[in-house]
Amino acid sequence: MKIGVLGAGQLGRMLAIAAYPLGHQMAFTANSKDEPAALLGRTFANNNKHDAIKQLTNASEVITYESENTDVEIVKEINKTTDVYPGAKSLFTTQHRGREKAIFVKLGIPCAPYQMVNSLRDLEVAVEKIGLPAILKTATEGYDGKGQFVIRTKNQIEKAWQSMSGVEAILEGFVNFKRELSLIAVRGLDNSHKYYPLVENTHHNGILRLTIAPAENISAKVQKQAEHYMQTLLDEMGHVGVLTIELFETSNGLVVNEMAPRVHNSGHWSIEGARTSQFENHVRAITNSPLGETDCLQQYCAMINIIGKHGPVNKVLELSNTHLHLYGKTERKGRKLGHITITANTLNEFKTTLSALEAFMP
Ligand code: AMP
Repeated sequence: MKIGVLGAGQLGRMLAIAAYPLGHQMAFTANSKDEPAALLGRTFANNNKHDAIKQLTNASEVITYESENTDVEIVKEINKTTDVYPGAKSLFTTQHRGREKAIFVKLGIPCAPYQMVNSLRDLEVAVEKIGLPAILKTATEGYDGKGQFVIRTKNQIEKAWQSMSGVEAILEGFVNFKRELSLIAVRGLDNSHKYYPLVENTHHNGILRLTIAPAENISAKVQKQAEHYMQTLLDEMGHVGVLTIELFETSNGLVVNEMAPRVHNSGHWSIEGARTSQFENHVRAITNSPLGETDCLQQYCAMINIIGKHGPVNKVLELSNTHLHLYGKTERKGRKLGHITITANTLNEFKTTLSALEAFMP
């Protein structure tokens, strides 16, 4: 099929790399020829956004997107002539933290207590209700920890509100978590579902640095619980394609933090680590093809993000059980430039390789 992607970043690039063996053709809207996916298909310059989207739609049989910040109105407009997956409901819900929390509550999925905040007065009331510590986040467009303020004492309330620059915000109770986990799943047009194992994520300065797949010591019961939450979300939103949920593991069980209607950084390990990668499964789902198995190919797998500087990448190529992915981006502080996958069959081999790659860790 002819697949169009709104955006041309590394997610689009990895979708294309997964789509070509299946015989699909790719097209993207791109801001410049230097974007990671721009050389992997037809590109339509995004400088006149309206024209680019029209051209992409004319050139595509199905459309998908890279970001939850994609304009819902654009998706609805495209959908009048061409199928867009995931659909507008998934996008509308996941681009606003308040709408996400409301759907969690509606479906009985545990999440942090929250209050929407539109003024300093709202924030004062919310702090009274939720207590401290609490975390204030912009309702929309926050990513990698941006647009967040942890409030520990009452005298920080005013500063926290000022840091939101007047935009709608959400105050969340602080969750005392043991680990951060994520679950990636895919739902097909025929309502088939597949789930990847829960993985453990480590962040630094709000940016994902390390994913361990599968997460250690996850009981079958906890995996099933996470899959149950995921299934209710997929079905409620009529989601088609990959959906990711980020969770906290606490002493009282799983608490869902947020979700993304797309392939996710914490699923990059699946390219070499799983029988079918998240990218291929997303492509399969949106092209109405049977979904692939999601089990791990080796006992231990990890993904290390390459952030800011490329570092000693030849070192990665010298190791026998690693795979290097570079996105063709220039170095910049905090930028995701690529990732490394490690696969191993013994814990010893896994740990030795992780330590050999210490230069890539913060
Ligand atoms: P988010 O943008 O919601 O993924 O938040 C970024 C990071 O802030 C998460 O990965 C957590 O480490 C932390 N965080 C977010 N929400 C909470 C919360 N309610 N309680 C404790 N930590 C949180």
